[in-house]
Amino acid sequence: MIIYIEKDALNYTQTNKIISLFPEATKIIIKNYKNIFDKNIPLHQEKCIVIAKITWSAIWKTPDNYGHTPNTYFFKTSINCVFDCSYCYLKWAFKNDMQVYFVNYDEIKKDISEVIEKDKNPMRFYSSDYSDILWSNKISGFLQEFVPFFEKFDNVMMEVRTKSTCIQDIIDLWFVPKNTEFAFSLNPQILIDKYEKWTPCLDDRIKAINKLLEQWYKVWLRFLPLLPVKNYEQIYTEFVEYIKKNIDIKKLHSSFAAGLLYTKEDYNKILKKYPRLDILHKLKLEKDDFVRCDREERDFFYKIFKDLDKNCKICMDE
Ligand code: SF4
Repeated sequence: MIIYIEKDALNYTQTNKIISLFPEATKIIIKNYKNIFDKNIPLHQEKCIVIAKITWSAIWKTPDNYGHTPNTYFFKTSINCVFDCSYCYLKWAFKNDMQVYFVNYDEIKKDISEVIEKDKNPMRFYSSDYSDILWSNKISGFLQEFVPFFEKFDNVMMEVRTKSTCIQDIIDLWFVPKNTEFAFSLNPQILIDKYEKWTPCLDDRIKAINKLLEQWYKVWLRFLPLLPVKNYEQIYTEFVEYIKKNIDIKKLHSSFAAGLLYTKEDYNKILKKYPRLDILHKLKLEKDDFVRCDREERDFFYKIFKDLDKNCKICMDE
């Protein structure tokens, strides 16, 4: 295994913590992570991670009507994911699948504090839109740093979104945070098998959710992306019944449903890379300039998830 370390990232506590996890790894000092990251390395050929300093803004405003409140932001502390979902935008966003960990946490926290100070309204921060932050926590130490950080604000919530079931790091925080929600993406098992390679199975995700709910953590269910497959009505109707039977919906903090959706530009890129991916051919350009499944299918999805939880937030479509 190789650890590439940016010269400017060498003196961070987080860097030393990551290095100590892999005592056998070869360490190579680099000037800028992009010199490695932008190289065209075939997927899964070289086992390595990259430690770097984020020098551009880690925070982005979400598109309008994305979340539960108008003031919602994405922020990132790492790039790339160990899972391999066929529909994922990471597949065409970068030249390779190396895990990049940004270690200048204090600077990222300062940027977040500045955004919060400017606005006293309810705000929500979605962590790690470019990775699975819970899976990578053993390496990144993200939870230990950012969950306590968000606790000091009022009216601010962070979402840790995941398909992972590595919840021990959450339990090991030894407190139930008031300002962090743990959001699990769920899809029917038949679709996990087909489109969400290497992710935990549905039953394991449900077990993780129930364990957190038993201990009063704030848990979100994220039904996304809803996939317009053949027989989608039957597949998703049975799925909702299964969720109802296996999760106590009343204990949930919130739920969220979103169809498969791309910008025109992203859609053309993924179609070029994966011309045989069947679900892409079920989508079309809508009036709002997003490429998504048709209104009838979307309305079906939204109805069944609103029936499951009347407060279910429909992403960018209500
Ligand atoms: S878990 Fe999320 S970030 Fe990872 S490959 Fe799947 S969709 Fe992409």
